[in-house]
Amino acid sequence: MNQKEFKELSLSASMLKNLDEIGYMEMTPIQSQGLPHILEGKDVIAEAKTGSGKTATFGIGILAKLDVKKFKVQSLVLCPTRELAEQVAKELRLLAKFAHNIKILTLCGGVAFGPQFGSLRHGAHIVVGTPGRVLKHLKKESLILDNLDTLVFDEADRMLDMGFLEEINDVLSFIPKQRQTLLFSATFTDEILDISKSIQKDALHIKSKSIEVPNRIEERFYEVIQSDKIETLIDIFATFEPQNAIVFVNTKIQADDLAAQLQQRRVDALAIHGDLEQFERNDVLIQFTNASCRVLIATDVAARGLDIKELSMVVNYDIALTNETYTHRIGRTGRSGKEGLAFTLYTQNETDKIEIYKNTNRLFEDKETLKHIKNFEMKPQNITLVIEGGKKDKLRAGDILGALTGDAGLNKESIGKIDIYDRQSFVAIRSADIDEAHQKLKNGKIKGKKFSTWIL
Ligand code: ADP
Ligand code: MG
Repeated sequence: MNQKEFKELSLSASMLKNLDEIGYMEMTPIQSQGLPHILEGKDVIAEAKTGSGKTATFGIGILAKLDVKKFKVQSLVLCPTRELAEQVAKELRLLAKFAHNIKILTLCGGVAFGPQFGSLRHGAHIVVGTPGRVLKHLKKESLILDNLDTLVFDEADRMLDMGFLEEINDVLSFIPKQRQTLLFSATFTDEILDISKSIQKDALHIKSKSIEVPNRIEERFYEVIQSDKIETLIDIFATFEPQNAIVFVNTKIQADDLAAQLQQRRVDALAIHGDLEQFERNDVLIQFTNASCRVLIATDVAARGLDIKELSMVVNYDIALTNETYTHRIGRTGRSGKEGLAFTLYTQNETDKIEIYKNTNRLFEDKETLKHIKNFEMKPQNITLVIEGGKKDKLRAGDILGALTGDAGLNKESIGKIDIYDRQSFVAIRSADIDEAHQKLKNGKIKGKKFSTWIL
């Protein structure tokens, strides 16, 4: 592939070194098309699909012009959901490692104001947040954006879908007119282009779709009887044996319901949707990404923008309401060159809605071709152990690994992903070894200190 290296850009040596250290060897297409203009300070509107590296495209732009010594909010990134904001902040922190003391703050709804006020008082260089909560802080004057020079809209199409237009317009009234505005969207609708005209100046349009490697996804459709839907889903799991799967439903209640029904049928599943508390959503995502949970039942809003690296399968348990939603949903699998599977279930009443999907690449199969395995079970490989200690306790992955594997301890192979947060750490342990791991940490110490631990 004819991709370009970051060193062709005018970036500082320390930034280039950090990109190298985090394993970004070449630019993705959207990065090589967008970054030269972004670094020149131009307004850019970019269309690129999920997983194309949009975060680093604006992230490198923001960080390259940041004045670390000026302790004022210089960039604001607006995102449609909390999860997405957290993910963007995480990626920005990774990209910001080239310098010390770059403060990146997330401001999202659904969590208490108190700690946010506290963090804002300490100041920040970059704020990542959802429009509603950012606006509230602006109105309370706990957030001042007089020094802002870059404004980013990530997943702008979804922000509009979620009805954030009014909040966005209000937020704009608090922001200097003289600024660089970057707008990212998975699709360019008329509405998006209108917004671009009203908030950007001579924006440069970039469409990176054409030169991206297409996801390799096998798409299959099955007609089902409503009352058999869950059995068909289980037969799909039994036939294709995915490592993990995201199953899409259209409502929060259905998400909870389906997860509970699958659990009763020995299929390990958890639901994720907008009614969960932030920590609950976090717990679910951690378990899904560290192989402690194999099936995630999700609504579209909750799943938007999640960057799950290795996803074997997507199932449209409820058909997507628009073609775009369909594309978004299935685009989560088949990433980074791996083959993905995407299934859609529809009932006889929905056959007309399925017509638009008919093409020669898609398989419409009889569900009787699926394997049915009696007493089929789908159990997770790992179980998550929670340690009540984290970054604030100076815990690192190596310390936890050491405590678990040290003298007569577990094999390294028994330990999976380790996620360390401020006050908690989450360790994936192979299911067979969970009791031993729990005992070992309960009776032992990490870095000479005792931490309480429990099984999630
Ligand atoms: P998008 O927002 O377009 O869906 P992300 O910004 O979340 O995509 O990036 C998807 C994944 O690709 C992330 O895990 C990110 O760390 C990784 N990534 C981004 N740019 C590069 C690069 N140049 N080289 C390697 N990995 C990259
Ligand atoms: Mg993104």
